[in-house]
Amino acid sequence: MKINRGKFLLNIFLMVVLLGCVSFIFATPKTKYEVNRIKTNQKIVMLTFDDGPGFEDEKILDILDQNNAKAIFFGIGKNYEKYWTDVKIKNIVDRMIMTGNSLGNHSFTHVNYHFNIKKAVDEFVRTDELIQKIYAEHGMKIQAADILVRMPYLQYYSGLDYLQKKLNVNYFVRGYLGCDYNGAVCGKEHIIKQYKNHLQPGKILVAHSKDFAQEWLPEWMDYLKTMGYHTANFTIGHYCYQNYGRLVF
Ligand SMILES: [Zn+2]
Repeated sequence: MKINRGKFLLNIFLMVVLLGCVSFIFATPKTKYEVNRIKTNQKIVMLTFDDGPGFEDEKILDILDQNNAKAIFFGIGKNYEKYWTDVKIKNIVDRMIMTGNSLGNHSFTHVNYHFNIKKAVDEFVRTDELIQKIYAEHGMKIQAADILVRMPYLQYYSGLDYLQKKLNVNYFVRGYLGCDYNGAVCGKEHIIKQYKNHLQPGKILVAHSKDFAQEWLPEWMDYLKTMGYHTANFTIGHYCYQNYGRLVF
């Protein structure tokens, strides 16, 4: 039998590509490794603010306090480090804890870790340690496994399950992301409209530690109140999400 060598090699090549794709699909972690909401019928919502801690959080805390609301601040390690060098940041972070808000881990440098999972492990472990140290200043002993993690840019792909194993967490916290991160362009009305459209019992909403939050947050808090919604986070006690249900995708 005469074999066309070129065609044979092409077939082998296509098979390898196909197998590569199939193994990629199977290697991709399932969505159970991320959570998106609390499984509940109660009118509860989780407000989260990423990329701090920063000076912008002062106003955000004012607005939350005025509304008796609690949030989760997914801070970045290089900002948490300022706790020991910038008294204003220290005061803001202390206030977050003392008023019952939660601190989460949002990496150390906020980059894409797609091709460097080892860097991700180093960064998230380092940030966990900073968060533990800050809580320790308040006499609170927090296990790394209890510090919730949100990936920068909500990135998620095969390989991050290794990061979860290393951090001893079962999932990353996703949630609905609108366009508040680009507030001036997106505009207050549109930001609020997006959150309204995605509001449902147990929903986790992603927002950012930005100055523009003071434009939309008061009106959003009013809307939540009008709709009968309360807030939850993961600080043990009255506001803990566990009072309503477990975190699911
Ligand atoms: Zn971020």
